[in-house]
Parts: sequence; C-alpha cells; structure tokens
Amino acid sequence: MSLGKGWFTEVYEQGGSAFSLKIKGKVHEYQSRFQKIEVYETETYGYLMVIDGCTMVSTRENFFYHEMIAHPVLFTHPRPRRVLIIGGGDCGTLREVLKHPGVELAQQVDIDEGVTRAAEQYFPELCASNNDPRAELYFEDGIKWAAEADAGFYDIIIVDGTDPVGPGEGLFNEAFYRSCVRALGKDGLLVQQTESPLYHMKLLNDVRLAMKSAGFTGVHTLTFPQPIYPSGWWTATIATRSGAITGGREQDILKKPFETVYYNLDMHRAALAQPEFMKRELKG
Ligand code: SAM
Repeated sequence: MSLGKGWFTEVYEQGGSAFSLKIKGKVHEYQSRFQKIEVYETETYGYLMVIDGCTMVSTRENFFYHEMIAHPVLFTHPRPRRVLIIGGGDCGTLREVLKHPGVELAQQVDIDEGVTRAAEQYFPELCASNNDPRAELYFEDGIKWAAEADAGFYDIIIVDGTDPVGPGEGLFNEAFYRSCVRALGKDGLLVQQTESPLYHMKLLNDVRLAMKSAGFTGVHTLTFPQPIYPSGWWTATIATRSGAITGGREQDILKKPFETVYYNLDMHRAALAQPEFMKRELKG
C-alpha cells in the first residue's frame, strides 16, 4: 500500500503502526497464482520485495533475518547434514545454510516460483548459492512436501514462510508440525519465523503449544531486530524432536569458517535470552 508520492508504506492495522521507505519507483510487479509480488527501488535500502502488500526483504537489512533463521539452529544441531527450507523463495536463507561445510543437502521448497525469479533479478546476491551442487530448488506446497517426506530424513527443517495468511496459513498448525516431527531424525530441529513478540504473543503461544502437541519435546523462541517488519522486532522459534534446546555448539560458533554481518556467539546468546515479559507470558 502506498500512502504518499515517493514513499512505500505498509500499514499494520492491528498494531496501529506503519512502516515507510522513500522510493525511486516500482520496478517489478507479478501476480502469481498465489500472491502479488512487487519490487521497489528505494532511496536508501536498495531493492524492497513486497508480497501481498507486506514487506519481505530489502537489500540493506536482510542479513538480520537470514542469518538468525539459519545459524542458531544449525549450530544447535550436533551434526546437520540434510536441511529442508520451506518457503525462503528469495534464497537468502539457502545461502546462509550452505555456508555450513557439513551440510550435504539443502532442499528449498517454495510454493511460488515468481518469488525466486524476482529474487534472481533484483537480489542476485541472495541467490549466490543456488547453483551449489548441494542445493535443490522445488516449487511446491511445503505443507504437502512435509506430509510426504520420508520419515526421519531431515536433520533440520527451516520454515521461512510468509505470515499465517494465504498459502502460509497452513504452516502454523499442529497437523503441519506433526508432519515435520515425522520427517525429522531423532536429533532433528525445526525453526520457524514466528512474528513479533510485541504484536503477536497469542500467535507465538498458539504455535509453541501446537509444536508441543505435535510431539516436539522442547521449544525456545529467539528474538532479533528486523527493521522492515511490523514493530521492527522479530522472533524465530526452535523446536526439538528430543530433549531440550541447548545453548549451541559454542566453540564451533567461535570458530565459524564463514563471514556474517550480524550473527556471532554474542548474538546467538543474546537471541536465546528472554525479556521479562516473555518469561512471564510465553507458554509451552
Ligand atoms: N525470507 C524472507 C525474509 O527475509 O523475511 C521472507 C520470507 S519468504 C519471501 C516467504 C515465502 O514463503 C514466500 O516466497 C512464499 O511464496 C512462501 N510460502 C508461503 N506459503 C507457502 C507454502 N505453503 N509452501 C511453500 N512456500 C510457501
């Protein structure tokens, strides 16, 4: 939604807030079978991708989200080799996953090929690992993919989906989490973007309780900055197939063999820390 000439604005009605970026103009628009995909050229954030009117990713700040949805869970699993990414069509999460040399297979299953084609054109830096021999890209419904996956096949499932509306709605319920429990190995971990702790505490609790009802034994919600999303403060929730969520392989984090912009051991620990209101209000 654009409120004024020269600006892109996403109004978040439920929160009574809005987020705007000064733009040079719209450079792409595509209505797929599933959603409307737009790309704007901004004055100070590079390109901005918007799906059904909601900001998704910008050139300038996407590192917060892509690093924090990928690295904490990968450094929590004892030895992640096979990773499934559901959603993630801009390919930024795939790129972060493939920085881990121990990963042998990263399958990305996004329902909308239009997102990836737009990313290839306007966010080529996020698509830098798409031709890695370990990468496989599919354009399917992730809900169906998870339900049909071989039992115990994956070490990690990353749900990098849109908000719980439209095609993304079915990624936030017990039936989907049951499919994920079955598709994960005994040390398996799931991580999912779980919206804002400021605006979506009810959704967060619904998700955590549904994950536990589906058979995950432990859940932990991480927080991190996310400038272009409503409230600017976001979460990812990790669920474990067995035991409780640990603090991660800290020595491996310290020795990580790849560059990041935001993620390091301090930020890993900070993301796991829980503000007082979350300690009080989070269930499961
Ligand atoms: N990674 C981005 C970021 O930096 O915040 C945002 C997430 S990504 C663009 C969200 C993706 O979820 C979209 O590409 C959308 O097509 C995909 N998606 C939504 N529902 C899906 C489903 N049921 N199965 C697979 N992908 C789905």
